[in-house]
Amino acid sequence: MPAGRTPKNGPSAPIRFIVRPLDLPLHEVEVEMHLPPEATGQAAVAALPAWTPGSYLVRDYARFLDRVSLKDDQGRNRAVEKLDKQRWRLPALPKGGVLTYRLYCNDLTVRTNHVDSVHAHLVGSASFLYLEGQQDRSTEVRFEGWPQGWKVATGLAAKRGTYLAKDHDELVDSPFELGTFRKHEWTCGKVAFEFAITGDHCGDEQRIVEGTKRIVDVCGGMFGGFPFERYAFLLTFSPGARGGLEHRDSTSLLADPFSLDKPEGYYELFTLIAHEFFHAWNVKRLRASELGPFDYAKENPTKLLWFHEGFTSFLQYGLVMKAETAPWSWVARKLAATWTDNTTRAGRHEQSLEESSFDAWIRFYKPTEFSTNSTVSYYEKGSLVAWMMDARIRLASNGRKGVDDYFRLLWKRFGDGHVTDADLREAFRELTGDDPNPFWERYISGVAELDGTVIERAYGLKLVKIAPWEVLPEEEANDPAFAARARTYSGLVFQGENPTIANVVPGSPAAKAGLAYGQEVLCVDGWRTLTAGDVGRRIADVRVGESAEILAVERGRVKRCLVLVEENPLRSTRIVPLPKCAAEQRAAFKDWTGQPLPLPKGRP
Ligand SMILES: [Zn+2]
Repeated sequence: MPAGRTPKNGPSAPIRFIVRPLDLPLHEVEVEMHLPPEATGQAAVAALPAWTPGSYLVRDYARFLDRVSLKDDQGRNRAVEKLDKQRWRLPALPKGGVLTYRLYCNDLTVRTNHVDSVHAHLVGSASFLYLEGQQDRSTEVRFEGWPQGWKVATGLAAKRGTYLAKDHDELVDSPFELGTFRKHEWTCGKVAFEFAITGDHCGDEQRIVEGTKRIVDVCGGMFGGFPFERYAFLLTFSPGARGGLEHRDSTSLLADPFSLDKPEGYYELFTLIAHEFFHAWNVKRLRASELGPFDYAKENPTKLLWFHEGFTSFLQYGLVMKAETAPWSWVARKLAATWTDNTTRAGRHEQSLEESSFDAWIRFYKPTEFSTNSTVSYYEKGSLVAWMMDARIRLASNGRKGVDDYFRLLWKRFGDGHVTDADLREAFRELTGDDPNPFWERYISGVAELDGTVIERAYGLKLVKIAPWEVLPEEEANDPAFAARARTYSGLVFQGENPTIANVVPGSPAAKAGLAYGQEVLCVDGWRTLTAGDVGRRIADVRVGESAEILAVERGRVKRCLVLVEENPLRSTRIVPLPKCAAEQRAAFKDWTGQPLPLPKGRP
């Protein structure tokens, strides 16, 4: 239990919040915090969280909170002392009082507040103060003065327009969506589901809702029920937006309204929905000890995000395939792209999954140009390691069990409670019959290359490595001059068409020549290069084993570098079915995806 927290069975009189709009187009709201006498009989400290669970970055929400004022029960102004960036000391108020503050809400993400004339998305961490040592006190929230016709959606239960949270943790974990959203409701067993959709889009809303229902059914079937009585999906469409944040009884989702103009847009959205929904079990309930109860004032690092996020990022695919909301062909492309990224990224030699998890706060959430060379993603590599674990469990069970059984075993054992690294190893031992430590040392605490052979053996799939010159159109592949161009490699990486270097692969020809991030390439072999494409084409003019002269700008000075062009060592991955498969492999694939293993291309 973090410092400053009291044990359960704490105080009973609730803190009541009233939230009002101040100026919607200017993104301002006002919050009144009604403090009961028993909470403020002694001087108390009010604090705002610095971060929100599920998004592991100190965001200093207090920078959007001002105009703090306090009145006692007689309506007299009382002084409030600011103690640090996010804490205020209140005087003793034996008969209670009201603390009022303004919030500026102009950041449309799933982890920040956004309010305008169309809707309001309020995040608990960024909106509601708590009294230190009294986080177990219950809270109530009312909304007053909002436009006619606006509704409220949230995972919290309501009584006559008042939303009830049993403690501050529950309040923080329950975002509110206000507005004129379209509300879809259904029940599954005894559980009530609500899907609030804000904003226009080009897609088929019924398809979104029906697909979500099937994902819910598959998840419920996996566990034989749900660990909550009600659940709310809060989806907002806004151009360029994307993201999701998990909560115990709800999820906030953002999507681009134009992403649904092609099938992949639906597959992506359903995968996001499946991911966040599965978090109701993995991380919101079954969790590392650092992930609740939380210390909201500072970082709460854990080494287990690879399990909470990586496993969820793998299980999401089984869910969407079994719910028939995305096909294997698309999932195979996604997994192949992730495999390619993780087997070509220089950072895979540098950072383990445990380190990536632990440093999420200062590295994953604060990426720099150095990140691909020094880090891995606990989401992406975590999902591939979960796939390898699934394969190991399949091989030990004739294809009949996988990581969903692994997760179910942990759920049965720990449920809404803490899980440790030792528990994860023990469950692996039970389902595979193998010593888990070598696997952990290679792939979780170590930096060994991923093992594709275990996937091939388990499911009858092949991870084919492809060189850049093997994907050329036939006429180019058959012409030695064009094929030679595809073999050239410098190690320079650009973003889009900007000719400023975005990354230089460590040990590559460009790195050896002294080129680096942030330098702008002006010319290659005397030819002016206006775009990143120009740079690539002019380097391809040079044969492997020959040098290209590059002029680049480094802090205002032009420098000359000789890049010795090498043969491209990078290989992409494609996933294809093996020509011949055993019955266990077919069973494994069917059990994982809910679909039969496809026949190899070119076969009837
Ligand atoms: Zn997640």
